[in-house]
Amino acid sequence: MLRQFELVERVRSYDAGVDEAALNSAYVFAMVKHGSQTRDSGDPYFSHPVEVAGILADMKLDSQSIITGLLHDTVEDTNTTLDEISGKFGPQIANLVDGVTKLSRLESQAEEGRRTMGNYAKLFLAMSEDLRVLLVKLADRLHNMRTLHHVRREDKRLRIARETMEIYVPMAERIGMQWLKEELEDLAFSHINEDARNSILERLRFLRPDSNLAKIERHLKRVLKKGGLDARVDGREKKPHAIWRKMQRKNVSFDQLSDIVAFRVVVSRVPDCYAALGVIHGVLPMIPDRFKDYISTPKPNGYRSIHTTVHGPEGKRLEIQIRTREMDEVAEYGVAAHWSYTAGEDRASASDGSQYQWVRQLLDSIDSTSDPEEFIKNTKLQLFQDRVYCFTPMGEIHELPRNATPVDFAYAIHTRIGDTCVGAKINGVSKRLDTILQNGDQVEIMRSRYASPNPLWVRFVVTGRAHSRIRRHIRIKERGEYIRLGRAIIQQTCASLRRVADDDLLEKFSEAFGKRTVDDLLEAVGRGEITSERVRRLLTSKRSPSRKRRRFQSSGKHAVSIDGLTPGMAVHHAECCHPLPGDRIVGIVETGKGVAIHTIDCDSLQEHEDSVEEWLDVSWSPDGAAPEHYVGRIAVDVINQPGALGEITTAIGNQDANITNLKINARTADFFGMLIDLEVHDVHHLTSIIAALRSIAIVMDISRAP
Ligand code: MN
Repeated sequence: MLRQFELVERVRSYDAGVDEAALNSAYVFAMVKHGSQTRDSGDPYFSHPVEVAGILADMKLDSQSIITGLLHDTVEDTNTTLDEISGKFGPQIANLVDGVTKLSRLESQAEEGRRTMGNYAKLFLAMSEDLRVLLVKLADRLHNMRTLHHVRREDKRLRIARETMEIYVPMAERIGMQWLKEELEDLAFSHINEDARNSILERLRFLRPDSNLAKIERHLKRVLKKGGLDARVDGREKKPHAIWRKMQRKNVSFDQLSDIVAFRVVVSRVPDCYAALGVIHGVLPMIPDRFKDYISTPKPNGYRSIHTTVHGPEGKRLEIQIRTREMDEVAEYGVAAHWSYTAGEDRASASDGSQYQWVRQLLDSIDSTSDPEEFIKNTKLQLFQDRVYCFTPMGEIHELPRNATPVDFAYAIHTRIGDTCVGAKINGVSKRLDTILQNGDQVEIMRSRYASPNPLWVRFVVTGRAHSRIRRHIRIKERGEYIRLGRAIIQQTCASLRRVADDDLLEKFSEAFGKRTVDDLLEAVGRGEITSERVRRLLTSKRSPSRKRRRFQSSGKHAVSIDGLTPGMAVHHAECCHPLPGDRIVGIVETGKGVAIHTIDCDSLQEHEDSVEEWLDVSWSPDGAAPEHYVGRIAVDVINQPGALGEITTAIGNQDANITNLKINARTADFFGMLIDLEVHDVHHLTSIIAALRSIAIVMDISRAP
């Protein structure tokens, strides 16, 4: 175990300004807190945080990161509180420890096998506001992996190794720590498939003497020089896990694998890449079908290189990658490449390199030993901050844009689920469908088989998928409603002329009005593009006499029922008079907009007195019990005294009505007048509310308002 003075020395070696006192105090604090706890290896538990701190010191991190490493398990595994840490080491350290603790808890949230690799890593990145939180978590995992063989239960070892492969390996890769990625991957591989790893290692050992990397490097360099090219050539043996993956993917045995070593040719300019290719192919015969030009056609992640495989000097296959120094730099930061690949759908312009900027800066600072404090100070992860990651109850994770709602989440799972969604539980609590989701939220979608998308959802959904589904649904439903309305209008018109609107007649109408189908005709009538008057004229072949409002006073027999039509689509209730079920009503056909419903005594009907073709006899549903809410408006004058408004709203609430709008339109020292819009079931409901308000002493006057 790393001793106290050794740790301090190690930090001092790269950081002259080390906070020695704080480091010492954290060392002792963690030792006391973990007390007699032990690890699976039998070592004192305390050895773990100390080794984690040591790894962080190897990464040349600042004192705060090292202290966080020492304290990282105290809150989770001992009786230590964050307040205690804050009091002793300051709020910043407490914050870092809290961040690490949260990530540790998150680990267990996703069920094994349902984690999607990249997404989980991204969730971690999005959750770690401070880069140091992530680095401590990675160091923690690295030490746990280095000591995993001490864990006795095999299923536990396997679970941890798989988790490492799925979450931590991609994460290390994403933030550009290639060495960490490779060590974690190799350790995990040794637990997941020890036999495969051993046999690959053995085979590599056997092949190594004649693979002769250095000799081939020299040979290639000579060949290129003769062709007039100054190139850097490196050969590299692949890691067991990379070889294994390739064997799996191509379904081949080790011996059939040509590329256990790969050579990289790095030149200065793009034309030199093609020149180098020509030179190499001129001397070493190429193997057909293995050539790929990612320079002219970069991979989606921005990776550029020429790949070719040739018959090498001793008849061995050689895999060669040719690229410029600049392309090589991008490929080195495999991290950035990997990130932009999986996020590629949303970040189309991955090739301009601008998004690699922060990674480069990060790597540059890790390399530069001069000022480690500078690098780590306030390094915030900007990556993925515009995304949010949420779980299904089964632990599946979904990536959504920021400000996404449960409706977006439902559509992200499946369009069927979005279409039938009626409610949502977030972390077990029922929430509104327009609630903005937070990172790590568990979202359960409540569904009803008979539900359909609510047109109002378009106001808050943020994903294109949800948007287009809802819009599409509105269009289909709207057409259906216009067709129903159009059919009712034609039936009414025919009935008033003692005709029956049968299929033959409807076909005739379609033809006469130049519509392709009967549905098209009915929709046009419903939308008011073809008026009932034109239909009437077609039937009587003469102009019908103008009729006035009188006609509607005795209506009912042939009225068009507006029951079941959605307000806002084919029919809408006029804003001028707020008709309620139970009111005598009339419809005014507005071309292209469907039918506006007015009360029979509405003043605005005067404008339509002379255009009888616009008038439509309509009725509420026969039983008058439509389930929807309607808006009724009342005008109230109230004595101006404290608490008056509260008394009014309470009385309305007691009548089981919602206030949707309230406007004070007159105020004097003695009284004030206001207009209140209420959601009511029908006109009786409104009448009973008026009666209830009238009985309150402070109400001077009350009436239904237009
Ligand atoms: Mn730990």
